Amino acid sequence: MNRDVDILAVVGTRPEAIKMAPVLKALKRRGIVTELVGTGQHHDWQMFGNFLSDFDLKLDHQLTLQSRDLLGSFVHILSGLGELFLQRKPKLVLAQGDTTTVCAAAFAARKTGCAFGHVEAGLRAFSRELPEEEHRICADALADLLFAPTRIAQENLSREHVNGQVYLSGNTVLDALLMHPPRPVPGNAREGILVTLHRQETVDDRKKFSEVLSALGVLARHHQVLWPMHPRARAKMQEHGFELPSNVQVTAPLGHGEFLNKLVAAEAVVTDSGGAQEEAAILGTPCIAVRACTERPETLTAGVGILAGVEKQGIVDAADEVLRNWDAYARPVPHLYGDGRAGEKIAQACGEFLGVTMDAEDSLDLEKVVRLETFFPKPQRRRAGRL
Ligand code: UDP
Repeated sequence: MNRDVDILAVVGTRPEAIKMAPVLKALKRRGIVTELVGTGQHHDWQMFGNFLSDFDLKLDHQLTLQSRDLLGSFVHILSGLGELFLQRKPKLVLAQGDTTTVCAAAFAARKTGCAFGHVEAGLRAFSRELPEEEHRICADALADLLFAPTRIAQENLSREHVNGQVYLSGNTVLDALLMHPPRPVPGNAREGILVTLHRQETVDDRKKFSEVLSALGVLARHHQVLWPMHPRARAKMQEHGFELPSNVQVTAPLGHGEFLNKLVAAEAVVTDSGGAQEEAAILGTPCIAVRACTERPETLTAGVGILAGVEKQGIVDAADEVLRNWDAYARPVPHLYGDGRAGEKIAQACGEFLGVTMDAEDSLDLEKVVRLETFFPKPQRRRAGRL
């Protein structure tokens, strides 16, 4: 591994692997020499290896985390990446999202004299209680290149007068979904409720988690409820001594394709996940966001999701509203997240930043957008329902 490297791309968790995959593919197509680093935040097959394999990615470097608490993991990732950057001397470091990995990658890049590019820049929930918000703010403040997924994110960055160059790229979540689109359900008929929960703010808090579980218990009285359980939620269930509400079916975390197949078949999704919220809007699955605030207001303003809060009654009421007025909420709005070419736009901007000459056929044809409306048809449901 002695060749010169243009870009070191850093990924630590499941959503980072998914959303970085389209960028890596587009960089490769342009012949930009990129190496991939795993920080070990997520490390097992179910939460990480599976996703690398799904997108045909291989790690060139893997850090081993000695510590998994918030401070310890930040310090280890920071020093591990710092050493690697000094050794490999990339011209640009890229990281995606809002995890400890992203924040540490931004600092490590700056402290070792590398430029830093932030994919999915500019998201703001305007709550400093969320660790993710601090990661985003730090990463954006330090970035040389900022790839805003939506106009709202771009406006947040311009309000903060960030120093780096801001690009409106779209969100690579759509590109990743199009890399292995879900199987259409026969008759496009939806049934059941899909659940994902993993955020520290939801599952670490005993009271909030118990409220969410009670709400799931109510939903499960009349609907199939399927919950591919994140390891953090599983560990917190045990730690808090909680029982699963009856009729809620739990599985291990699913692979990306499998998860999208469940999402496109569901009547609604109850989630605190950022990526699942975005994919739900793309696929026309109404989203009940179990959050007190969100850095992703796009689905709310588009009228395809509800911010339900984290109390039992709020969640039950939101689900009732969505299920009663299902046709109004069940609308695919993929254009919220761009045209499916965010990875290409990001790679193009990186190439220009690096001064890499690209073949004419690699330059972007902005007119040639994916025909998304024909790709995602309006959903139907198996039976009209309410709670
Ligand atoms: N996901 C998955 N399998 C699952 C649950 C989620 O592949 O069982 C995917 C989902 O499609 C989305 C991403 O994981 O692309 C979201 O990750 P997560 O909820 O862990 O993090 P967040 O998006 O909130 O940062």
